[in-house]
Amino acid sequence: MAGAIITKLPNNYNREVGYISHYHELDIRQLALYDGLILDYTDQQGCVNLLRQCRSSFIGTLYLLPIFIYSIDKNIDPIAESLSDGVVSSLQVEGVIGKIDKIRNKQVNLAAIDSVSPDIRIMTKVLRFLYTRETRLTPVVNPNSNIGYFYPILSEHYKNGDLSELFKILDDGIQKEYLRPRFVDRLHLCSNCYSGFINFRETCPKCNSADLVTENLIHHFVCAYVGPEHDFHSGDYLVCPKCNRMLRHIGVDYDKPSIIYNCRNCSHIFQEPVMEAFCFNCQKKNPVEALIDKQIYSYELTPIGEETAINGFGREIREEFELPGFITFTTFNIFLKYEVERAKNSGRISSAGSLILSMSDEDRNRMGPGYRKLAGEIADFIKNATFSTDILSFVNNNTYLIISPDSEPTRLQNLLENIRQSVHKLLLSNLVGYSFNLVPKVVTISSDKNHSDLINQLITP
Ligand SMILES: [Zn+2]
Ligand SMILES: [Zn+2]
Ligand SMILES: [Zn+2]
Repeated sequence: MAGAIITKLPNNYNREVGYISHYHELDIRQLALYDGLILDYTDQQGCVNLLRQCRSSFIGTLYLLPIFIYSIDKNIDPIAESLSDGVVSSLQVEGVIGKIDKIRNKQVNLAAIDSVSPDIRIMTKVLRFLYTRETRLTPVVNPNSNIGYFYPILSEHYKNGDLSELFKILDDGIQKEYLRPRFVDRLHLCSNCYSGFINFRETCPKCNSADLVTENLIHHFVCAYVGPEHDFHSGDYLVCPKCNRMLRHIGVDYDKPSIIYNCRNCSHIFQEPVMEAFCFNCQKKNPVEALIDKQIYSYELTPIGEETAINGFGREIREEFELPGFITFTTFNIFLKYEVERAKNSGRISSAGSLILSMSDEDRNRMGPGYRKLAGEIADFIKNATFSTDILSFVNNNTYLIISPDSEPTRLQNLLENIRQSVHKLLLSNLVGYSFNLVPKVVTISSDKNHSDLINQLITP
C-alpha cells in the first residue's frame, strides 16, 4: 500500500491548504504546518481516524486545525461531520477559504497557556474550539456511546468507563458560567456504570422472575362481577361465570378496567408488578428509582467562557468569602476587559487600583473569625469612600480591587492613599499586637494595555 501523500491545493490566498486521500502511515505532526486540510471520504475509516487523531490532540495547531471532508456522496457519518468544519463537494480552495480565515483570525487572539490539570486542559480545548468556530457544543446521537450521545472534542477524552467524569466537567462548565446549557434530552442511566443501554421489565413481587403473562380483567356491570378474562371464555363468546349472561358490548354492559399478571415461575397473581432496569453493559439489576437521571444539553459559550478561551484560567484565585457590594473576580475581569476595549474606541482614560491587606498567615490564623470581620469593615470603608460608578471586587481574601471608569489615575491614587491612612488609624487602635500593612496600587487603563497584564500588576503583592 502506498504511503500518505498530502497534495498542496494551489490558491491565491497565500494559505497552505492540503488535500489527503491516502491515510496510510500518516504522521499527524506534519499537519500543523497547514492552514487547513481537506480529507477525502473515499477511505471513510482513514478519514475518520485522522479527524479523531487531530481533535483528540492537546496541541492547539492540531485540534483547532480547519479540516473539511471532501465527498460527492452526502452520506457522511454524523460523528465525522461533527468533528470537521464542514463537508465540501469540490476541491476548490474558494469554497473553504472564508471559514479557514475566520478560524485563523480568531486563533491568533489565543494567549499561550501553561497546561495544568487534565480537566483544565480538556475544558480549554472545548472552550477554544467553540470560540474559534463561533458554534455551540451540540451532542450527536451515537449508538456506540453508553450514554447514546457524542460531544465533539469532549467525548474523545472520556471512554465509556469515564462518563461520570464527562458529566462532571460539563456541570462544572455551567457552574463556573463558561457554558450556557439548552435542553436536548433526558437520560436514565445505570447507577453502576452510567450506561443508558437498559432493559425495563416487569417482575414478580414475590420471586423477581420476569417470566410473566398478562391478562385483561373483566368487570361485568350487570352483576358487578370482576374476574380474569379466561373465566369468561365460552366458545366464541364471553359469558359471565357468575350470572351466566352473555357479554355484548364493551363499555355498555362490561369493561376491561386493568390487566393482571400471572407469574409462570411461582404462579403468583398480581396487579402491580415491580419494574426493574437491567443494564446490558454491566448486568446490574437496578430498581428504577435508583437510575441516574441526567439531562443532555447543547452548550453555548458565555462571555466568561469566551474570555477564558482567549486568556486561559489565569492564576489560581481564592474566593473564600464574599462581601456585599463586591462582584466576583470573573465578573471584574470582564469589566476590566470592557474598559480596555472602551479606551481603544473612545480614547478616554480610566484607572484601576488595588489595596492589599498584608498580614502573616500566623497572625491571620490567630485572629480566627475576627479576620473576616476585619475584611468586612475595610470593605465598608472602601464602599463609602468610592463613587457609585466604581466597580469593586475582593480576591485572595486580602485584595480589594477597584475600577474607576473615566477617572484619572492621580484621583484614584489619592483616594486609595486616603483610605489607606484612615484604615490604618482604625486598625492601629483595634489590632494591638498584630503586624499588618496596606499597600495601594494604581494602573492606567489605556488602549495599549492588555487586561491580563493589568490584573497581574494589581494582584501581585
Ligand atoms: Zn355477571
Ligand atoms: Zn413469581
Ligand atoms: Zn450498568
